Amino acid sequence: MIPFNKPYMTGKELWNIAQAHAKGHLAGDGGFTRLCSEWLVAKTGAQKALLTHSCTAALEMAAILANFQAGDEVIMPSYTFVSTANAFVLRGATPVFVDIRPDTLNIDETKIEAAITPRTKAIVPVHYAGVSCEMDVIMDIARRHSLLVIEDAAQGVMSSYKGRPLGSIGHMAALSFHETKNIISGEGGALLINDPSFVARAEVIREKGTNRSQFFRGQVDKYTWTDFGSSYLPSELISAFLWAQMEEGESITRRRLEIWDIYHRFLEQAERQGKIRRPIIPAGCGHNAHMYYVLLPTLALRTQFIARLKESGIGSVFHYVPLHSAPFGLQAARTHGDMFNTTDLSDRLVRLPLWLGLEEQQAEVIQSILAVLD
Ligand SMILES: *Cc1c(COP(=O)(O)O)cnc(C)c1O
Repeated sequence: MIPFNKPYMTGKELWNIAQAHAKGHLAGDGGFTRLCSEWLVAKTGAQKALLTHSCTAALEMAAILANFQAGDEVIMPSYTFVSTANAFVLRGATPVFVDIRPDTLNIDETKIEAAITPRTKAIVPVHYAGVSCEMDVIMDIARRHSLLVIEDAAQGVMSSYKGRPLGSIGHMAALSFHETKNIISGEGGALLINDPSFVARAEVIREKGTNRSQFFRGQVDKYTWTDFGSSYLPSELISAFLWAQMEEGESITRRRLEIWDIYHRFLEQAERQGKIRRPIIPAGCGHNAHMYYVLLPTLALRTQFIARLKESGIGSVFHYVPLHSAPFGLQAARTHGDMFNTTDLSDRLVRLPLWLGLEEQQAEVIQSILAVLD
């Protein structure tokens, strides 16, 4: 069986963990966490990078920092992972879903402005498949309406928009290092802060509502409870693992792009014959090959495609059940405008295997795909 995903290990992870073990610093914010944070700042130019135990945690921190209160609204796509919405629902806020673009499956920036109400506090663009949303337009809308922009860049590490790294454009951004992403630590994430006014409070929220980070820098002489917060920082053991991955970040991305390009080349003819639609990367978007997907003409054909690939020993998956149609989404959120593209595209999308090591078997995967489409 050729699986849909297989976490890639660089080979240095256990060595790094042994180093952390030998040093005896196992809690958060030791040397490896610092290396990872510095790497993120160097790659993105963010004011501050705070490692978290997941992207979900980083989104929750962003919702607290943005001061979301009961009844506030946040505009986002329905075609996303649940955490994008849940982070705000936890604060009593209401996600307002707008439809996605048919080319990138990202939030349709032309539909955002009409969804703004006096309760709107933020826009959350999700960079699907590591391909950027139309950030110039989104930032301009946010500026004109005094809204915050929180990028869900879970899939966007090492991608760019008009030369600017994803995660560096909004006021804040959340990244994921879950094992299904490009750079991994099992579970893991980071909050990037680009607006310096959020930095001090972010450190407090991450450290259980205390000024412990300032205390360790010698900026205060005792540490105490100063705000609300939780425990959002990863153990050094996780950061040690993550550092091994970050050191290989460039080559991981390069190798993923090679696999992506091969799919794209060998599926071109099937697209011309109208059997599938391939991903579209708009000019100005530098992507990270997080995902290779194809769109089948109908839901029935997608179901058949996944089943027949499985018979050939190849794993492929679909996602997401649009949040606006999910049981809790019906209760906790609302839509603005029709969700035509969201419903249509989520019914027809299939993700193909894309992981480092697939190279040797990719020809076989492509052959099976073409046979199934024939
Ligand atoms: C993976 C993902 C998340 C959640 O990341 P975790 O690190 O698992 O919490 C959130 N949003 C999007 C778009 C994702 O792909």
